[in-house]
Amino acid sequence: MINEFRLDPESLSFTLITNKVEGCKACKEKGKDIVSMPFRRDRVRVYEIKDDVQPSKYELSGEFFKSSPADGYEEVIADSELHENKFKTYTVEEIEEFLILIKDRLDSLARYDLGKNVIITRAPEEHGYFDLLMLPVPRKETKECFECGSIKNADNREIYNTENFLAYVPFAPRFDFEIAIAPKRHIGFNQCDPMLLFDLAGIIKKFSGLSEKEITWAILQSGHGHFKLKLFVGKIDPYEILDVKRTIINPDLLAKEIRDTKKL
Ligand SMILES: [Zn+2]
Ligand SMILES: [Zn+2]
Repeated sequence: MINEFRLDPESLSFTLITNKVEGCKACKEKGKDIVSMPFRRDRVRVYEIKDDVQPSKYELSGEFFKSSPADGYEEVIADSELHENKFKTYTVEEIEEFLILIKDRLDSLARYDLGKNVIITRAPEEHGYFDLLMLPVPRKETKECFECGSIKNADNREIYNTENFLAYVPFAPRFDFEIAIAPKRHIGFNQCDPMLLFDLAGIIKKFSGLSEKEITWAILQSGHGHFKLKLFVGKIDPYEILDVKRTIINPDLLAKEIRDTKKL
């Protein structure tokens, strides 16, 4: 299997060359959980996924035509062993419990150097799980905190306001239906106390009825460490949210293949 991140120095965007493995990530790993915790009348199980990202000793940084064997880490945190999704039936307390659980996972992963670009998504799949990705591809750093600036300038794009959070439509959205929900304070997800997570859980519950269609949730962190929750309508790939293109074709092999046809 080929797994490699490549940086395009012109657009400054990353491409991941990988053989995407199809099928439900949780079902494929069933029985091979690395951690499990009680949740509701069932358990939450954590499965390590090695399809796209694999540990490596190489560092990827932004120089010309630099590549790296795909580094990083991925796990799914599944709330059922069955291929089902009960998220819509969860109470605010249960969503909060889940957020605390994700925070605990991030805390225990913090001791390993797995990459600073963290994204946790919940896609409208048939199987209910959170997909946690830690990648070595750096987030683009703005001079000042992008999130603090976005909150300050939300103005007529603001949709919802609580004591701790602001929900708004991003200034330059990349998807048809995209909402950002960010804490007003400059704070990382791992710094949230239970009160803040309870507030966030309430907002998730409120917003989950917003669209008739299924929603993709994503927890992201800016280059300055200010987290936000994003909401998209439809199924969105986490790599797409991070602006990483994914291709199954290795450029070197493609060139060789074309040369070898001898048709040119
Ligand atoms: Zn499944
Ligand atoms: Zn900030």
